[in-house]
Amino acid sequence: MNIEIKKLFVKTEDKEILKDFNLKINPGEVHAIMGPNGVGKSTLSKVLMGYPDYYIEKGEIIVDNKKINDLAIDERSHLGMFLVYQNPINIEGVTTSELIKASLDNGGRHKGLYEYILELEKNTEELDFDKDMLHRSFNVGFSGGERKKNEILQVLMLKPKFIILDELDSGLDVDSLKIVAEKLNQYLEENPSTSVLIITHYTRILDYIKPEFVHMMKNGTISQSGDFKLAKLIEKNGYKETFELEGNETHE
Ligand code: ADP
Ligand code: MG
Repeated sequence: MNIEIKKLFVKTEDKEILKDFNLKINPGEVHAIMGPNGVGKSTLSKVLMGYPDYYIEKGEIIVDNKKINDLAIDERSHLGMFLVYQNPINIEGVTTSELIKASLDNGGRHKGLYEYILELEKNTEELDFDKDMLHRSFNVGFSGGERKKNEILQVLMLKPKFIILDELDSGLDVDSLKIVAEKLNQYLEENPSTSVLIITHYTRILDYIKPEFVHMMKNGTISQSGDFKLAKLIEKNGYKETFELEGNETHE
């Protein structure tokens, strides 16, 4: 999928969060956005998906040559955008199996029940996830790691063309992170035009899912872009020093 974010300014009721944010992601590219807490990373992920809490003051989000600023969340989802939440929510009374089936049906991708269950169970097993979870209320009583596996299960079933991963490694132990990353990498190999935006403040996840482009975020905008070496520089020196190392002045 082709994603273009042009001169984006985003605010909540009383606070400006993204300021002149620009980013272009071509089909099949994996980009990482790194930055310390509070710079606006999760805001970016939510505004891309169309969360009503965030207001676009200026700028454009263009997906496959179509301006999507005014599309609702479900419309963006049906275009093939998917956000893996930093903190996935619970839905009491709706099971994981029902939720994913409804998403497919509403997106006009109806599947026979038997075929659907087979595919769902296969992916669940490969994620080393207990099949009983499929028939329990979505995320209710789930551990942090199980919630994240539930997110990736949706990716595998809904087959998005643009995946945003917001702090995927939070709540995942190393073994689970490895399984989840392997499944995601396999998905990307099988669907090579899928674009990915990895949002993280730790470099750990980037050793599992390798970005070709790395951007550092500061005060609501990208302050530096580079390749994987930039991530290694941040790992070694931290955000503040990396920013200064590149010849920028910090104004606190
Ligand atoms: P990050 O994910 O980089 O840690 P966030 O995007 O979550 O940062 O938040 C950026 C800043 O915007 C923070 O100061 C946060 O408190 C504020 N913020 C985020 N969402 C809202 C909201 N819905 N209402 C008010 N302030 C918000
Ligand atoms: Mg965040």
